[in-house]
Amino acid sequence: MRPFEYIRAVDVGHAVATAAADRAAAFLAGGTTQVDLMKDGVLGPRVLIDITRLPLRGVAAGGGLLRVGALTTMEELAADPVVMERLAVVRESLLQAASPQLRNMATVGGNLLQRSRCRYYRDLSCACNKRAPGSGCDALDGHHRMHAILGTSGHCIATHASDLAVALAALGAVVRVRGVAGDRAVPLTGFYRIPGDTPDVENVLEPGELITSVDVPLLPEGARSGYLKVRDRASYEFALASVAVALVTADGVTRDARIALGGLATVPWRAWAAEDVLRGAAVTPEACAAAAEVALSGASPRPGNAFKVELGKRAVVRALSMVAGLP
Ligand code: FAD
Ligand code: SF4
Repeated sequence: MRPFEYIRAVDVGHAVATAAADRAAAFLAGGTTQVDLMKDGVLGPRVLIDITRLPLRGVAAGGGLLRVGALTTMEELAADPVVMERLAVVRESLLQAASPQLRNMATVGGNLLQRSRCRYYRDLSCACNKRAPGSGCDALDGHHRMHAILGTSGHCIATHASDLAVALAALGAVVRVRGVAGDRAVPLTGFYRIPGDTPDVENVLEPGELITSVDVPLLPEGARSGYLKVRDRASYEFALASVAVALVTADGVTRDARIALGGLATVPWRAWAAEDVLRGAAVTPEACAAAAEVALSGASPRPGNAFKVELGKRAVVRALSMVAGLP
């Protein structure tokens, strides 16, 4: 681990000003990503700003949304009564992530900003444009079974690893951030950047900006939602493919549909066009299959992950059927 200066932030303004003053500064929340990567030499901040004592923890309901403090742990959010009653997709995405021990440490803000699980990103002997811009991408012709088929570029094909972000993308959540210039709110679907030719730039945060909370709109009464995660083992594993779904149906017709994909794309992937297929259509297996075709229509797989196209379609059909109550 490279030497670094440790600073405990006394308030949000102090944290933001300290981070903005040094490009080589990083925030420390639960530490379950940050510390691992520092130990492995993948990250080497000069200053580590501990934000764990800031008053950014807790969940408050009001005005048709939940405001989730950035330091709320994954386990706390999963156990929130409103989440349990109204946002099954959020709860399921959390409880299928990591392990109980990790979820008790890991925060919502940290989860959204967790780093790539691409093995080449974490191996200093490998070429990786995300870790070392311009060095190349060993995943393109290497082991890329877990990698993305949507939103990729010739410079990076890593998936975004967060399960929670997929559920939040489906719900139209908004990320609230504080920087030296003040507060701003960014829709989660516009928060992440597809890799293009700068895979090292993963989101729209400016230097020093801190996530303070996430606003999650509640689903309308009667809506149903769920999260399907397909993975190599039943727990403690990242997604090969995942699907977050929320549906409002009446008289056998879909009135509203939200679909987002994980494990398949470089960013949490809202499947807008697939939702359009469902809105106004009868709730049938055929409609689910048509939506799945559209959701994966832009896929651009590599030889080692071509199976994900069919897997993704089947996951969409299964998730929609599960939430709609189809056999
Ligand atoms: P930290 O490690 O403290 O920080 C992560 C990053 O976010 C750092 O760059 C930090 O500077 C930055 N940061 C943190 N908070 C803020 C903030 N408020 N504003 C701005 N920047 C901030 N996740 C899943 O979604 N699904 C899984 O299945 C899953 N499995 C896992 C299995 C293992 C073995 C491990 C180690 C992790 C797994 N994770 C999984 C990832 C885990 O959820 C994240 O490591 C965790 O959510 C990160 O939160 P943290 O509070 O520990 O963040
Ligand atoms: Fe790095 Fe992305 Fe290539 Fe993985 S896929 S080696 S993270 S550039």
